[in-house]
Amino acid sequence: MKKMNYVCAAVACAATPVLAGIYGDPADAVHAWSVHDHNRPNPVKVEAEAGRPPSDAVVLFDGTKESFEKNWSDEKGNPSKWRLGADGDFYCVPGWKNGGAIYTRGSFGDCQLHLEYRHAADIGLVSDKKGPQMHGNSGVFLMSNYEIQVLESYGTNPADMKNPNYADGQAGAVYAENPPMVNPARKPGQWQVYDIIFHQPVWEGLRMVHPGSVTVLFNGVVVQDHWEMEGLTTHKVRRPLAPHAAKLPLFFQDHGCEVHFRNIWIREIPSRYANVTHGGPGADENAVMALRRKTAAKLFAKIEKPVKPTIENMEALAEVIGYAREGAYEKTWKETAVAFHGVLDKMTDAEWTAKKDALLKLREELDTLIRNGVVPQSCGTRKRISAAALRLGWEK
Ligand code: MG
Repeated sequence: MKKMNYVCAAVACAATPVLAGIYGDPADAVHAWSVHDHNRPNPVKVEAEAGRPPSDAVVLFDGTKESFEKNWSDEKGNPSKWRLGADGDFYCVPGWKNGGAIYTRGSFGDCQLHLEYRHAADIGLVSDKKGPQMHGNSGVFLMSNYEIQVLESYGTNPADMKNPNYADGQAGAVYAENPPMVNPARKPGQWQVYDIIFHQPVWEGLRMVHPGSVTVLFNGVVVQDHWEMEGLTTHKVRRPLAPHAAKLPLFFQDHGCEVHFRNIWIREIPSRYANVTHGGPGADENAVMALRRKTAAKLFAKIEKPVKPTIENMEALAEVIGYAREGAYEKTWKETAVAFHGVLDKMTDAEWTAKKDALLKLREELDTLIRNGVVPQSCGTRKRISAAALRLGWEK
């Protein structure tokens, strides 16, 4: 039954506009904003039309020669030997490492990356001679150090659909660490899509705070779910994580195989540790309090001085102390409350009735602060409103 109540409440809230005043539980030690806080900045608007890169993405390759030359190079920054294809793509020169890896000229850290890749339709089965790792091998090396494998992995033995590759080396694997959870690879010749969300490891000097993580959607299917990296990509041996620059180029591997890439865009995203003011692993109590004080100061400045003992001002001050109950805010709150009690104590029942809705709203706001320990249970304003509510039959 309780669960049902939560569902109903959520539906009701969705249709309720968030107005000024206290609406949800207030700021606390690790949250600078209250629940449903109308003072909290809204997210930046991004246009995200179907089939188009989001408006804030860095388009790394759009099929044109210009974007190829502008954004890509070999390891040393010279023009890449990879070739432009006929399908809005570029591709690795076939043969054993003829072109070298292709690097972004720009450097990136934590990111959302979109790309599409394709193998030739006639790539055939895995050659016993060359081995499964020569069957359309490339790779997306995030920050030059963490490989999401690219390989022809549809299913190389039609008799049993058994892929002869080692599991941690097939398409969608965090190479040498974690196989994809499932194999959603399409047939050779079709475009395959990677959407990758990557967070680099977080270090404080030589102390690792978090190993970082990678999430991969392969053709729209989650194959890596927040995999926490175990090492820098290598082959056959385990190589521990180690600090590196905060931003590095990404590259696509040249493993001697022809692999085509197109529609490549990237969005830099903040580390979860960059958020120090509201929840998450980076929340810093000093930074939280600094922002709470900043918000309190902004709201306090909007109240006309000297502060008159009105319902509106009690609401506004309650909101201020919800962020920071201290100093001038504390003093003004207490003084205004005393004066406000004087006003309430002189009101006739007709005056109480005329202000019923506003007074009950104020009581609800005070209840939120009382529930969260900002205002004590003994709050005189609340007691007066509740007494009137009982006397005048407002209580349901
Ligand atoms: Mg590879």
